[in-house]
Amino acid sequence: MAQTNLLARWREKKDLAKLDGYKLAGGFRALRKALIMKPADIISEMKKATIRGRGGAGFPAGMKWSFVPPGEGPRYLVINADEGEPGTFKDRALLSEDPFRIIEGAVIAARAVGLTAGYLYVRGEFFEIAQRFEKAIADARKGGYLGKNILGSGFSFDLFVHLGAGAYICGEETALLESLEGKPGRPRLKPPFPAVKGAFARPTVINNVETIAAVPMILEMGGDAFHALGVQGDGGVRLFGLSGHVNRPGLYEFPVGKNLRELIFEDGGGIVGGKALKGVIPGGSSTPILLPGEIDVAMTCDSMRNAGTMLGTGCATVIAEGTCIVQVALRVARFYAHESCGQCTPCREGCAWMAATIERIEKGTAELRELDLLLEMARNIKGRTICPLGEAAAMPIEAFVTKFRDEFEAHIRAGGCPSHVG
Ligand code: SF4
Repeated sequence: MAQTNLLARWREKKDLAKLDGYKLAGGFRALRKALIMKPADIISEMKKATIRGRGGAGFPAGMKWSFVPPGEGPRYLVINADEGEPGTFKDRALLSEDPFRIIEGAVIAARAVGLTAGYLYVRGEFFEIAQRFEKAIADARKGGYLGKNILGSGFSFDLFVHLGAGAYICGEETALLESLEGKPGRPRLKPPFPAVKGAFARPTVINNVETIAAVPMILEMGGDAFHALGVQGDGGVRLFGLSGHVNRPGLYEFPVGKNLRELIFEDGGGIVGGKALKGVIPGGSSTPILLPGEIDVAMTCDSMRNAGTMLGTGCATVIAEGTCIVQVALRVARFYAHESCGQCTPCREGCAWMAATIERIEKGTAELRELDLLLEMARNIKGRTICPLGEAAAMPIEAFVTKFRDEFEAHIRAGGCPSHVG
């Protein structure tokens, strides 16, 4: 499967990050089209495109747009640029290399759903990217592409940048809304869903950066053509990240359905030092690890679920033979224990217990029976929490222990990591 540059256009086109360069590359053509279309027809194109949210959950974006009830008053778009999932580095490239495309996609989304204002919620660590994005917004306003009476159409919509403070949980949509409102980023109970009661208790659409960046393309080529690039029910192209022990790490773009083995061994050039592959975390640290025999799989939301994991953010971390998987599990467990917001007991206590247990296993001071206890902790967190962070913490640990049980047992028997002990 050949690489595409439909999203990663900066590889072929110059100066996209400047207003003139963006216009020269055909920028705002889709917006002009959207401004004379009926809003319902724009949503219909999104549904035909079958674009699934690119932030991790994979919910069909067109359907999400259609959930917003009709009515008057303020209604918001929130673009989730928190990008906190470890191993993920795609949205930052779109934000810095092609900011006007995100602005154009935002205005089209607003026109389709009838939204009055939008926020780009960016993690605090992306400070420079956020500053550059502010400049792009100012230029777009001056050019008549944002603000009052956009391109003389009578439609008005404005966009603002909101910097987060770098908490992982603020990537969860309702925690993000709390943070946007100036409160601590703690997830809300659902329902009500944001489409009905979101930012400032008003109807709100929340989309990932990459999802919004794809909107102008969908409108230009048509929903059916976009869908045809991918697979049934999961249309288009998407960005795939590749990191870890691979010869050519980086950001790739392929049609949805790219084979994971091919991505690692052909595009990524295989494993560093000619080592054997030990496992792949396919879509950010919350997605369960796949063994070498399990990676001949299409990178779609459904086929990844059938393989017992998730496509997540589409950014894979490759782990070579010789890596201590207990240390990998410890790193992951510590991360989620640190990032738990503390509202739910199973997550607050359970994530810390899992991290403490794995730490004992890693040091060789645990007992063998604690491995089953660890699995029980993971099972008792899942499905018992307000937000998906509980699952995000439990699922990878379950997979590490189940798939590499021998290695966990070897640590306990050897009194530490076998590669360092004795
Ligand atoms: Fe907070 Fe964890 Fe509960 Fe989510 S699952 S609301 S992060 S305690």
